[in-house]
Amino acid sequence: MAPAFRFRSDIDSLPAYVPGQRPPAGRSAYKLSSNENPFPPSSAVLSAVIDAAADLNRYPDMAATALTAAIAEHVGVDAERVVVGNGSVAVLETVLQAACRPGDEVVHAWRSFEAYPIAVQVAGARSVPVPLREDGSHDLDAMADAVTERTRVVLVCSPNNPTGTVVHEDEVRAFLARVPREVLVVLDEAYVEYVRDDAAVDGLALAAEFKNVLVLRTFSKAYGLAGLRVGYAVARPRLARGLRTALTPFGVNALAQAAALAALREADAVAERCDRVVAERSRLLGALREMGWSVPESHGNFYWLAIRRHSASFAREAAGSGAMVRAFDGDGVRVSVGEIEGNDLVLRLAEDWLALER
Ligand code: PMP
Repeated sequence: MAPAFRFRSDIDSLPAYVPGQRPPAGRSAYKLSSNENPFPPSSAVLSAVIDAAADLNRYPDMAATALTAAIAEHVGVDAERVVVGNGSVAVLETVLQAACRPGDEVVHAWRSFEAYPIAVQVAGARSVPVPLREDGSHDLDAMADAVTERTRVVLVCSPNNPTGTVVHEDEVRAFLARVPREVLVVLDEAYVEYVRDDAAVDGLALAAEFKNVLVLRTFSKAYGLAGLRVGYAVARPRLARGLRTALTPFGVNALAQAAALAALREADAVAERCDRVVAERSRLLGALREMGWSVPESHGNFYWLAIRRHSASFAREAAGSGAMVRAFDGDGVRVSVGEIEGNDLVLRLAEDWLALER
């Protein structure tokens, strides 16, 4: 009998993406495991979704024309430089598939967003992980050293998921000066709206200046639309054109387009909610440091406890006490900034944890 169909063996052996745990059915718990926005959608966003639902028998606008124009206006670039996709992960996957040939290399920091090595492998390329510095930040010098003639793409995550650190404009410029222009540098700015560091990289300025820089952003975090899947890229027109051609046709559904458009119309309210998350983040980092925790300077809506081999047991204890957090076993625990009660619950657990001197 002929052997049954199998996917490529490198796909079969890929580690699975483990999403942030949800509370067990029938139990309520604070969900601090997926860096979501704790604020529910506004009534304007909900009505836009309901209105758009009346046309669900039709395909959505494939070019997401209105949304693309609104994003372009919001970030201050021409619409031809904006490409909208079904979540920024999907945009990244398409970038990698369109960029890489078999055997090509993609350099990225590690630990960073766990979708990176999977997306790289699926695109047929090889992941080249470069360790973060001790303080959780990207080591851009080491990343430039890791670039070879096989490198097609470098992924830079700022703020970095899960440590929250940003890369600084001057470091990125020095890095870009060392990287050949035929290598694409992707700046993943999924959490950019939470950055409060004047020296942090301005991805949009670099994407305007450099032909090999592409910025990724999302509506899943600050805009609170994780459930609808909208992300976008900003790049020079030629790159943007190529990316648009390669993306899944009709990838951004009609409800998502309508909701993102409505969310952009309330940019002030979005900014105000970001400020509240940032203030809460400062409170949490301050309290943790006071207790004696050494926490990287986070510019995302989350923070990082480098508990290493005890990570999984911390997350289990937290779940038992009613807070879902995200353990990367052997490395650390990432905790989203959520509702105040949930944040306080994790603070108490962190304090007890230190008291037990593990
Ligand atoms: N980039 C980073 C760094 C992330 O942490 C996430 C979400 N976990 C994403 C991209 C994914 O965003 P989206 O929901 O737009 O696919």
